[in-house]
Amino acid sequence: MIDQLLLNNRRWAATVKQENPNFFIELSKQQTPKFFWIGCCDSRVPANQIIGLMPGEVFVHRNIANIVNNADINCISALQYAVDVLKVRHVILCGHYGCGGVEAAIHGEGHDIIDYWIWDIKAILTRHEKLLSQISPDAVSHFMCEVNVIEQTYELCRTKVIREAWQREQPVSVHGWVYGIHDGLLQEVIPHVNHQTDIEQMYDAALTAVSQKYLSQP
Ligand SMILES: [Zn+2]
Repeated sequence: MIDQLLLNNRRWAATVKQENPNFFIELSKQQTPKFFWIGCCDSRVPANQIIGLMPGEVFVHRNIANIVNNADINCISALQYAVDVLKVRHVILCGHYGCGGVEAAIHGEGHDIIDYWIWDIKAILTRHEKLLSQISPDAVSHFMCEVNVIEQTYELCRTKVIREAWQREQPVSVHGWVYGIHDGLLQEVIPHVNHQTDIEQMYDAALTAVSQKYLSQP
């Protein structure tokens, strides 16, 4: 089974070279992606494939439940490299429906170390407790996956890396998306944030829109 992966790789590299003989040679000299993707580890949400980009076009960081936490040196280092060095134009925070990390937080399932990791999502659940009590039980998971996108995008906008980029007027937009593993489609939860002063308004507008969407469901 594992040998098949190596065979797949040979075939893939040959196909790419057939279309562009210099592809790998050009790519090996430098990377100039315009996008930085922060997504979930879930195997059904592969960044390059779902946004139709080739190697070299998107810088990627993935963790369970696409969490942005200032204390996470891994995520923040990737963000800093993407923004300060690669000078990406867009930072995309992408969650997905049916996220196991979000659902583990909702159902209080214990998995030792993962419990610590999803602590931030448990805090989000507590923050929106009142709203959650009004959502149909069947819709809670979808609702929370979108709220998680809003909250993590908000945290992303408040990181030192993004704030300093905006302060020096570096053009970088932050986006919050959710992906449907059931239909392969992306939806904008937060269309874009381009400036420090827009953060609160975008947060409020996105939360209102998501709340209205789910509160209107029977
Ligand atoms: Zn997930």
